[in-house]
Amino acid sequence: MSELDEWLHQHLIKTKEAGLYRKLRTMNTAPRPNMLIDGKGQLVFSSNNYLGLANDQRLVTAAETILHEFGLGSSGSRLTTGNTDWHHKLEEKIACFKQTEGALLFSSGYLANVGVLSTLPEKDDVILSDRLNHASIIDGCRLSKAKTVVYNHIDMDDLEKKLTETASYKRRFIVSDGVFSMDGTIAPLDQIISLAKRYHSYTIVDDAHATGVLGKNGRGTSDYFGVRPDVVIGTLSKAIGTEGGFVAGSHVLINYLLNHARTFIFQTAMPPAICAASYVALEVIEESHEKRQQLFSNVKKIKTSLVEMGYLVKGDITPIIPVIIGDPNEAVLFAEKLQEKGIYAPAIRPPTVPEGESRIRLTVTSDHSTKDIDYLLECFQFIGKELNIK
Ligand code: PMP
Repeated sequence: MSELDEWLHQHLIKTKEAGLYRKLRTMNTAPRPNMLIDGKGQLVFSSNNYLGLANDQRLVTAAETILHEFGLGSSGSRLTTGNTDWHHKLEEKIACFKQTEGALLFSSGYLANVGVLSTLPEKDDVILSDRLNHASIIDGCRLSKAKTVVYNHIDMDDLEKKLTETASYKRRFIVSDGVFSMDGTIAPLDQIISLAKRYHSYTIVDDAHATGVLGKNGRGTSDYFGVRPDVVIGTLSKAIGTEGGFVAGSHVLINYLLNHARTFIFQTAMPPAICAASYVALEVIEESHEKRQQLFSNVKKIKTSLVEMGYLVKGDITPIIPVIIGDPNEAVLFAEKLQEKGIYAPAIRPPTVPEGESRIRLTVTSDHSTKDIDYLLECFQFIGKELNIK
């Protein structure tokens, strides 16, 4: 082993000892509720494919057609040779969907968050960030020259206190997930925006988990509350079922990011075929209310039944359902027992979640059948009794 490898190996041993070692699992089938994972049949309750579109034939056909016309990779950044009609068409579609003047594509939601937060707030500015914001927001804040102040999760009194304390900064930006990925809570955007107005601040919302899910036609958290944040960020990789990220907002904002956001300027443009599939996904999302209705009916059934069984279930009515187990080892054991029964749902432990709040994080899709859900609930009933958890 080289000296470098020896050093890394020692670190990995410590990672293992801390119970934080990660390893990959291999999906042997396309994303759907019943999958082969590492060769074993599993009923998946941990996917972001909320509306089942990742495997939808209409999207696959759209991608196939454009794949034959444009080939695979875009072979350049948007500002050199990677820009196609399909990038523009998708941006117009996103802007229309999000009801903003414009939109700008990034290669992922991660890069969109990092791009916005490292570009808009400047040296004498401050970013007020919810404690449970996604890692890509945290990384964007770290790259920014502005100061970051963290406020307690969806705690509007704490946000107001921190807005008061930061009055001397040149500009104040409030950034929040729309739907929080570990707690399934919905940010009170109406209150955030009214505070932002009162304290002359700007609002940035990462709508990764809400796009396609919340609000009229799945337009997201802004629509759910009937408000207009200054900057909306999103991903195509969850309910939309493809890959990529975007920012939606005013023409000036979009033009500014196109000129200044390093994660836009220095990345290769998204493949045109994926743009075409995403375009069709948005058309499907606008038209099909049944999928969303099915999704929410699945969510309600699981949440209500788990609460009736005596489980502590966090979050609002979103497809993310955190079932609190408490002890990290017990959460891992619970997840293992679920897996033995053919259910794939991960245990989430500190530092991702606070001490004492280790959990099974379930995510639900519109494609889960009544039979799938009944089986999940049966397993929770059985394992809960076996481990004496509820
Ligand atoms: N924001 C949130 C809240 C997320 O959960 C994720 C994905 N885990 C992202 C941003 C990043 O999106 P992408 O996967 O498109 O990079």
